[in-house]
Amino acid sequence: MKAKIIDGKALAAAVKQEAAQQVAQLKEKGITPCLAVVLVGEDPASQVYVRGKINDCAQCGIESRSIRLPEDVTQAELLAQVKQLAEDASVHGILVQLPLPAQIDEKTVIDAIPPEKDVDGFSPVNVGRMQIGEPCYLPCTPAGCIRMIESTGMEIAGKHAVVIGRSNIVGKPAAMLLLAKNATVTICHSRTQNLKGLCASADILVAAVGRAGFVTGEMVKPGAVVIDVGINRGADGKLHGDVDFDAAAEKAAWITPVPGGVGPMTRAMLMLNTVEAARRAAGV
Ligand code: NAD
Repeated sequence: MKAKIIDGKALAAAVKQEAAQQVAQLKEKGITPCLAVVLVGEDPASQVYVRGKINDCAQCGIESRSIRLPEDVTQAELLAQVKQLAEDASVHGILVQLPLPAQIDEKTVIDAIPPEKDVDGFSPVNVGRMQIGEPCYLPCTPAGCIRMIESTGMEIAGKHAVVIGRSNIVGKPAAMLLLAKNATVTICHSRTQNLKGLCASADILVAAVGRAGFVTGEMVKPGAVVIDVGINRGADGKLHGDVDFDAAAEKAAWITPVPGGVGPMTRAMLMLNTVEAARRAAGV
């Protein structure tokens, strides 16, 4: 294997330490950052994610509130809960764990989170602010990807970055953040022609497809930085990324593992956003 590993766990630990230091400073001013996490239903994966976020808060000294609602909750009940949290000045960040059950319109719920408490960075106002480079909460997964790329020491400016995937929560914002760092960005998706050729010319390759092993070794340019966002549960019960790790690692200079790559960084970035929300709310 030629590539060096971008250790998401170690980087996430450093980011959480950074968050914890900022929390300690805020506490000296009498401010305790607080994140409210709303979980609807019993989806096992969502439960694991929420537990992880609550643990992260504890590690960073951030207060957390976990609100659990039944699978059959109505849209009106969920919106009332979000409104209550929106009006509660002691809550700085609100996160509604996705996906939501079929009777709930996700967009309406996300829109109900005030932009200043939208620590996931999913609301239209935050997305718009990010697009024009105004202060905002950056979506955690793409922001974590940027930190991981920067951790390699590779200059992003001027490089060809290829993002596979155009979802609103990963692909599109990852492309926008790379553009903001002056990369030349290509977004590939399910209708892209010559996807393999485009990927093979990428200095930075971000895979957010949701298909195990989608990125093969021939799609990796020698010396590239490869960021694997994918989380796919295989028939073996294990988690797999979108990248054929062994083949890609023979050619890349740097690569993220799955698990232990983008996942932990995503959670750590949420902590930084929550601290930032508390700071902004207090005007300090
Ligand atoms: P999504 O399903 O919303 O989007 C997938 C994207 O891949 C789409 O834009 C689609 O155009 C593209 N795509 C699908 N098939 C393709 C093909 N054959 N060729 C080219 N492009 C194709 O998924 P998402 O929410 O963006 O998530 C992507 C992956 O990242 C999933 O595995 C998800 O579990 C994972 N994820 C990980 C984290 C993390 O913290 N590590 C966070 C969010 C999502």
